[in-house]
Amino acid sequence: MGLIIRSSAIHAAGCYTTTAIRKGRRVAEYTGRRISKELADSRYQDSAITYLFGLGDGTMVIDGHGMAMFINHSCDANCETSEVRGRVWIAAIKNIPAGDELTYDYCLYDGGEDEAICNCGAKKCRGSMYSPEEIRRRKKAAKKAALKTVKKPAKKKPANRKPGKSAKPAQS
Ligand SMILES: [Zn+2]
Repeated sequence: MGLIIRSSAIHAAGCYTTTAIRKGRRVAEYTGRRISKELADSRYQDSAITYLFGLGDGTMVIDGHGMAMFINHSCDANCETSEVRGRVWIAAIKNIPAGDELTYDYCLYDGGEDEAICNCGAKKCRGSMYSPEEIRRRKKAAKKAALKTVKKPAKKKPANRKPGKSAKPAQS
């Protein structure tokens, strides 16, 4: 099995396999330093792009360094991640032909104001890299915020839709 990094239609760079991979096989480990969520937040608060992977209850994250950090999100992914005794593995959930880009579902949470718009191109793309639960939570929060602005007509600025921090073109 050989993994290479090259430019990707999904986002800047992606991770590709040069050989076919069988369903169920581990393809990479998400490597990098383990740091606290607090440290990651302060270190990367002004960064448009981060490569953080939440561990366990979310108090610790992996600050990605290595091949796996280049694996892009897709809503119709060919890999999934699993945490085994503090290590995060990426394994194929489909038979993947040689030359294909590897992807997994990021299921993002805790993204602040970042909209994390998805450009994966899958038929069932949910338009966001957030997890379905997080999307529901954010919608509820946005509704509450909208109600608040209605109750305070002095504030004219629309509360929703700030331009995303990512370099990717916005889609709706
Ligand atoms: Zn998508």
